[in-house]
Amino acid sequence: MKREENLKQLANSSKIWDIAVIGGGSSGLGVALDAISRGLSVILLEKSDFAKGTSSRSTKLVHGGVRYLAQGDVGLVFEALKERGKLLQNAPHLTQNQPFIIPIFSWFDRVQYSVGLKIYDWMAGKLRLGKSRFISREETIKRLPAVKQKGLKGGVVYHDGQFDDARLALSIAMTADDAGACILNYTAVKGLVKDENGKVTGLKIRDELDRKNYTLKAKMVVNATGVFADKILQMDKPGSAKMIQPSQGIHLVMDLDFLGGKDALMIPKTKDGRVLFAVPWQGKLVVGTTDTLRKKAKLEPEAMQKEIDFVLETAAGYLTKAPTRADVKAVFAGLRPLARPKEEGAKTKEISRSHKVILSESKLVTLTGGKWTTFRKMGEDTVNYFQQIAEEHLAPSASLDMKLHGHTTKIPTGHWAGYGSDAKAIQNLAKSQAELAEKIHPDFPNLMAEVVWAVENEMAVKVEDVLSRRIRMLILDAKAAMDSAEKIARIMAEQLKKDEQWIQQELEDFRKVAEKYLIKG
Ligand SMILES: Cc1cc2nc3c(=O)[nH]c(=O)nc-3n(C[C@H](O)[C@H](O)[C@H](O)COP(=O)(O)OP(=O)(O)OC[C@H]3O[C@@H](n4cnc5c(N)ncnc54)[C@H](O)[C@@H]3O)c2cc1C
Repeated sequence: MKREENLKQLANSSKIWDIAVIGGGSSGLGVALDAISRGLSVILLEKSDFAKGTSSRSTKLVHGGVRYLAQGDVGLVFEALKERGKLLQNAPHLTQNQPFIIPIFSWFDRVQYSVGLKIYDWMAGKLRLGKSRFISREETIKRLPAVKQKGLKGGVVYHDGQFDDARLALSIAMTADDAGACILNYTAVKGLVKDENGKVTGLKIRDELDRKNYTLKAKMVVNATGVFADKILQMDKPGSAKMIQPSQGIHLVMDLDFLGGKDALMIPKTKDGRVLFAVPWQGKLVVGTTDTLRKKAKLEPEAMQKEIDFVLETAAGYLTKAPTRADVKAVFAGLRPLARPKEEGAKTKEISRSHKVILSESKLVTLTGGKWTTFRKMGEDTVNYFQQIAEEHLAPSASLDMKLHGHTTKIPTGHWAGYGSDAKAIQNLAKSQAELAEKIHPDFPNLMAEVVWAVENEMAVKVEDVLSRRIRMLILDAKAAMDSAEKIARIMAEQLKKDEQWIQQELEDFRKVAEKYLIKG
């Protein structure tokens, strides 16, 4: 996936694209993937890096949503369980089957969760990942050695999927790019172009790296900008009512031994009625999350002190050793693009997580809400509008069984798994030069060859792209990522032919971002 080559396609101003997608998070990438599966020409424009927004800040679960089942949102759960099963088949290198254990402290909970999860199993049908079952107190303690034992009666085990969100976004981008889509990061949409009837016919764009402006033509334009959707809707119709209510969720990352074992802990109902997860992920434990209304859409939202306290206190209620601020290796926050409720003050946990596709008078199509897990179906539902908007034949969607970039039946071991079929080429690169075989950081398995690979093949252009989303060091251990930044900046400068001034600017930019992932005190 080469940025310079894709920019040349953008420069061809006479080309009329079938679909232009604004936003390179899971929603926009789902649209691009589905469009390409139907033989449409598609261009995707992301103003920052792929998955820089909410799509790299999830709990990393490919799930039907046990909570949505409890809320009676059966349609959403059926849909998500089907997508879960298909995604595990289409991207086995980036997803896995993860057992979860709900600790049981009362016999009522035993019955309630055992029955609920049997229904969850049944709803997944043939795509089920494993049978849920009650396990004894002894087995629960064996599998979750650090779980609080006072009053523990046993546990209910069930299965869901887990994934690397930012790398899955990249894999979808590369799948679309491999199939001929024009995919661009650091390219912002600055305005909509309309014809004399007020129909959207194109976009005004700026390359955020060299500040060049472009205009493109498209038969259908999709606004898939997550919490920023209102900004594009304002470009379309200034003064239109706000549609999005951002809701923040944070995660704390700590050492695995706070839980012990390979199983994840799931608390279906915290003090304030939310769900808490503590999930082993890439050698660390990811604990979250919260649900806090925020006024502003931000690309780099920050965790609030009260959210950090809430997660620490809630986790302490279920773990033998209470984690403290000093134990947190990184904190990351993300914003859910929820549909704004009609009634002021409605609770966010009551707002449906289903996605919506909205067609404006100008024929701008906006995709909002939804979940990472259902990105493909969200894309399919959006592309279905093409026939009506372009008044052209539309082939049926073929994205359900599309294998994603890196798909292989021989998954490489260790951290190489995430590269799937690309792993061998990166390992060979590491063998070609001693410098490339060096580790980026002593506590992480990643090699310098991965940085070169990310620049050459994965459109990484900034130090943050590498340390946050090509490899996930920033959200796993912010201090380790800060310590690695200079090494990364120097090798990237060689690849990208940049000077010392670029290196210093990158280090300053990265430091400003990375500090937000550290917890002080
Ligand atoms: C805390 C939390 C945990 C979650 N956990 C899970 C989970 O475990 N499993 C799950 O299935 N779902 C989960 N979700 C939901 C899921 O992460 C989101 O639904 C999904 O990532 C939203 O993707 P998006 O593409 O709509 O938005 P984003 O990822 O935010 O993408 C929008 C993109 O648009 C770009 N953009 C904005 N304006 C412009 C412009 N003018 N020009 C070009 N580009 C622009 C932005 O830079 C951004 O990259 C979670 C959400 C949160 C907040």
